[in-house]
Amino acid sequence: MAHSYDDQNIFAKILRGDIPNDTVLETEHTLAFRDIQPQAPLHVLVIPKGPYVCFDHFAQEASDAEIVDYVRAVGEVCRMEGLEEDGWRLISNAGAHGVQEVPHLHVHVLAGRRLGRMLQ
Ligand code: C5P
Repeated sequence: MAHSYDDQNIFAKILRGDIPNDTVLETEHTLAFRDIQPQAPLHVLVIPKGPYVCFDHFAQEASDAEIVDYVRAVGEVCRMEGLEEDGWRLISNAGAHGVQEVPHLHVHVLAGRRLGRMLQ
């Protein structure tokens, strides 16, 4: 699948500093911030700084350094937020069937309550 990145998407604007965000963690290649409409007591979005639409796009085109930085940042968010004991859920929606709203790769980190068995 060919991926074309829309640099007017809301996360691109956040990365450019045009829209504020509640940052949890920033690294060289990654930004993590709180979701404005949290679906759980803890709801953080982790995004690469590079222009990647979805996980597949990122896996194909990002550098090893970006991928390592991103995966470590997701883990670091879970540690920083003290989620080791009770756990968490990671979700990454893609495309129409995944009901992806913002076309910039993001992983949702959800925690703070027992989540339902099935995803919506
Ligand atoms: O996976 P999906 O694309 O549907 O999720 C996008 C997420 O981005 C939503 O949970 C929405 O609340 C969040 N969002 C945000 N800040 C914005 C716009 C959207 O946290 N300015």
